[in-house]
Amino acid sequence: MTNLANNLVATATRSPSAVAIKLDDVEVTFGALEVLSQKIATILAEQGVGRGDRVALIMPNIPQMAFVYYGVLRAGAVVVPLNPLLKGREVAYHLTDSGARLVFAWEGVLAEAQAGAEDSGTATGEPVSVIAVDGSAFMQRVAGTEPTPGVVELDGGDTAVVLYTSGTTGRPKGATLSHTNLSRNTEISRDLMGTAEGEVLFGGLPFFHIFGQTCALNAAVLTGATVTLLPRFEPGKALEIIARDRVTIFEGVPTMYIAMLRHPSVTDTDLSSVRVAVSGGSALPVEVLHEFERVFGADLLEGYGLSETSPIVSFNRVGHLRKPGSIGTPVDGVEVRMLDPEGNEVAQGEVGELAVRGHCVMKGYWRNPDATATAIPDGWFRTGDLARFDEDGLIFIVDRKKDVILRGGYNVYPREVEEVLYEHPAVAEAAVIGVPDDLHGEEIVAVIGLKAEHAPADDAAREALGTEIVDFAKERVAAYKYPRRVVLVDALPKGPTGKILKREIKV
Ligand code: AMP
Repeated sequence: MTNLANNLVATATRSPSAVAIKLDDVEVTFGALEVLSQKIATILAEQGVGRGDRVALIMPNIPQMAFVYYGVLRAGAVVVPLNPLLKGREVAYHLTDSGARLVFAWEGVLAEAQAGAEDSGTATGEPVSVIAVDGSAFMQRVAGTEPTPGVVELDGGDTAVVLYTSGTTGRPKGATLSHTNLSRNTEISRDLMGTAEGEVLFGGLPFFHIFGQTCALNAAVLTGATVTLLPRFEPGKALEIIARDRVTIFEGVPTMYIAMLRHPSVTDTDLSSVRVAVSGGSALPVEVLHEFERVFGADLLEGYGLSETSPIVSFNRVGHLRKPGSIGTPVDGVEVRMLDPEGNEVAQGEVGELAVRGHCVMKGYWRNPDATATAIPDGWFRTGDLARFDEDGLIFIVDRKKDVILRGGYNVYPREVEEVLYEHPAVAEAAVIGVPDDLHGEEIVAVIGLKAEHAPADDAAREALGTEIVDFAKERVAAYKYPRRVVLVDALPKGPTGKILKREIKV
């Protein structure tokens, strides 16, 4: 008897009037969330959607996302969460690949969703229905629908969510996550962050991504905590929400921390409610970690994971040995090894590809046995990240395999150079990339977003600052590693969770 939706039933029974989801002055209690999700189950049945059928959700973090998600799960169907920024043809690809028959699309993305559904239906010969999720007509329809109580009981290995990710290569692939994958990870998230009823989680990480889905939405539903939503991250608004709702657990990616620390109102915002903060999704620069802990007066714990691992693989824990820059140690029931290209474990302390085994690892890529066999050839999931264990068993990510720069026969790990650049007082964000070079194969370029107060006044000042930053790095890293060129930009391109998208940087 398994279904992630049983967590909602239990919490709604235990604490019906506790607030589950808050969006400014709209509050949805667990009791209401339970009934609304039961009504979604009825709508699904009316549409002929049942156990194992895929249902796409294209929504930002709004209350509807929470109850539609749980409605789909309780009906035994499979959630396919999609990024609301996708264009029609991308939506079509995801719908066709997942074989989704029904789409719940937020009104802001309706045109793209409908175009995508039409193309997908034409390609597969099966019509795809779109339900528009807006504030009024949709809510009236839901209000007028009879609830279907109960939960379709499944096997733990049954698929709960197909989560599209680019993985290490190629077109987006659907990481297929079971109810057990997600249930176990949700419990682990609760234990690591101390999520409980009465706690307030910051809900700025999108629920369509695994980090926000497991560690905010599902962890709140498991425990009775409240998630306060911010559908589109904006640092000033995030700070406002922290103070207004007395946020106790802040979850974010490094760019969110950087943006908040740079925001003018950080100094006069009451941040005292924040008990713990968690960073994941990409490397947290050590400078940022220290600054956050100083300014917020709370622990900032770095974790590591992927869509394919539901997501948590390793974590830093309060009361355990912590080292800035480390992603901590593997969580309960999860094993980590560093492998050489032949799949053998490297010697202690050496760098290898981080491989994972345990309850968190996905079932495979949706309808893609070749990609699954490549990613999990022998029970160990290959993450595409290079890492090492230090002498205390703490893991340090060195870089992504595909981001390593090969300059004149030397491997340069961009992350190491970026850490140094973050120490420069003018640098707000940094990405080090390799560009083709006749002499060295690849040359090292640093693309830098400046702190507002350091914006150069004219071209001469700009050039001088670029040279100063090159010299700054040159003094601090070996000669083959420092960037030969610095490009100053207003902001680096970022993905939906705020991750810096290196492949979209054009220099
Ligand atoms: P996604 O599937 O979108 O969550 O992306 C997973 C990838 O994010 C991993 O393979 C890593 O490259 C990166 N990542 C996640 N957490 C960290 C971290 N704490 N430090 C460095 N990279 C990270």
